[in-house]
Amino acid sequence: MAVNVKALPARRRGRPVRQDGRRQAHALRNRHGLAKEAAHSRPGPPGRFQSFPVSGSIQRQAASMARIVMKFGGTSVADLDRIHNVARHVKREVDAGHEVAVVVSAMSGKTNELVGWVQGMPKATGANSPFFDAREYDAIVASGEQVTSGLLAIALQSMGVNARSWQGWQIPIKTDGAHGAARIADIDGSFLIKRFGEGQVAVVAGFQGIAPDNRISTLGRGGSDTSAVAIAAAVKADRCDIYTDVDGVYTTDPRIEPKARRLDRISFEEMLEMASLGSKVLQVRSVELAMVHKVRTFVRSSFTDPDAPGMGDFLNPPGTLICEEDEIVEQQVVTGIAYAKEEAQISLRRVADRPGVAGGIFGPLAEANINVDMIVQNISEDGKSTDMTFTVPNGDVAKALAVLDKVRETVGFDAVQHDDGMSKVSVIGIGMRSHAGVAATAFKALAEKSINIRAITTSEIKISILIDGPYTELAVRTLHSVYGLDKH
Ligand code: ADP
Ligand code: ASP
Ligand code: MG
Repeated sequence: MAVNVKALPARRRGRPVRQDGRRQAHALRNRHGLAKEAAHSRPGPPGRFQSFPVSGSIQRQAASMARIVMKFGGTSVADLDRIHNVARHVKREVDAGHEVAVVVSAMSGKTNELVGWVQGMPKATGANSPFFDAREYDAIVASGEQVTSGLLAIALQSMGVNARSWQGWQIPIKTDGAHGAARIADIDGSFLIKRFGEGQVAVVAGFQGIAPDNRISTLGRGGSDTSAVAIAAAVKADRCDIYTDVDGVYTTDPRIEPKARRLDRISFEEMLEMASLGSKVLQVRSVELAMVHKVRTFVRSSFTDPDAPGMGDFLNPPGTLICEEDEIVEQQVVTGIAYAKEEAQISLRRVADRPGVAGGIFGPLAEANINVDMIVQNISEDGKSTDMTFTVPNGDVAKALAVLDKVRETVGFDAVQHDDGMSKVSVIGIGMRSHAGVAATAFKALAEKSINIRAITTSEIKISILIDGPYTELAVRTLHSVYGLDKH
């Protein structure tokens, strides 16, 4: 992500300074293949940002004039009253003397409605994309954010705040050409930095950018989080605040487990696992970007009174800070439980047991853009061949079966069985690296509730368990309680 550092005003030189992101960028490169972004990590003059907490004098300087990106999700801008409330949050930070850029989502339910309209249209002859014409899909679904950016700009103007709406292409937020699920390729921060210089609050439409074909692109569902973090990285913001309908990241989805506790802090790595394994509070890509570019990201509530005590606290605003692992003083063994519904299990029976078979199956599935997750291979009953079982999202089953049908002859397997309506429940915690027995505790607790385990995968900091869908809530609550995460 390029940042035009020459455009940075000189007065920012005295602000908190962060250290070079090379160590963490390296870790990411290994795990997530983000070499390109890692190479661009925190460009700019050395010594611009600093790990918190900072010394008193710098703290005052930072607090007196900082640069903040504020993102408001769909429920936060669901109607005109809420947009007005959002404007009050923005005004609070502007009045405190900060430079503010805002990113907004579409009104809650709007994107679903727009997607529904696209799906209600007849497909072009011969088209087989689930998105229909992905370029038109983007032109349609990006419109929700255009509306809210304009409405919020008007609300701010009515409060005497100098504000203007901007669409992705105007910044520009350049993406790759994967319409419908584009990735941000580049943002030149100088456009927004110029707006700061003019004393203007830029209200940017989230979720959208401009593709190399010069057309609007969208970043995949939940993509406004990624717009916000990417913009924060491009303008070297001191903070990126993600305002939503919960007051932070919880030990599990509070809608499923009311005993879930809000976390004061969570490490980038744990948040990345939580998001990838189903916690939709942040889009996965936004966490990757925050980690690579060291964006200090807070998840906080837009429903709290904008003028409540502490809401304007610069260093410790109410909410959850996503941060480096070493900023977390009391690290628990297990930090959270995530779940993903609507997983399907596909099993290939009596697969020929010879080198190249896995490549012959999973290569074509990858080429068809099918997201294969858990893979389990075991010896068949006859001992001469293997059984191969893997999971895909429910929505990809038909496509996967079609691909498997094509490779059946060359790979060599007997039957294909599939089972929809599974769920994946995951236990996440950095402390697992140094603690044995975490998995055994989960298995025992699920067995006591008679929940059958279909497949298991583990990594250094997570255990994922595939179970039958109807047991999801019970499994989440059971695991939440067995690891002592319940609110006391
Ligand atoms: P927005 O519209 O603001 O982007 P989202 O609906 O995308 O909000 O994300 C917020 C929702 O994420 C919450 O309402 C909550 O139900 C859900 N969620 C899932 N897991 C968690 C978690 N671990 N902590 C907090 N919220 C979670
Ligand atoms: N409005 C888009 C969606 O609903 C993007 C977002 O809300 O982040 O997916
Ligand atoms: Mg969201």
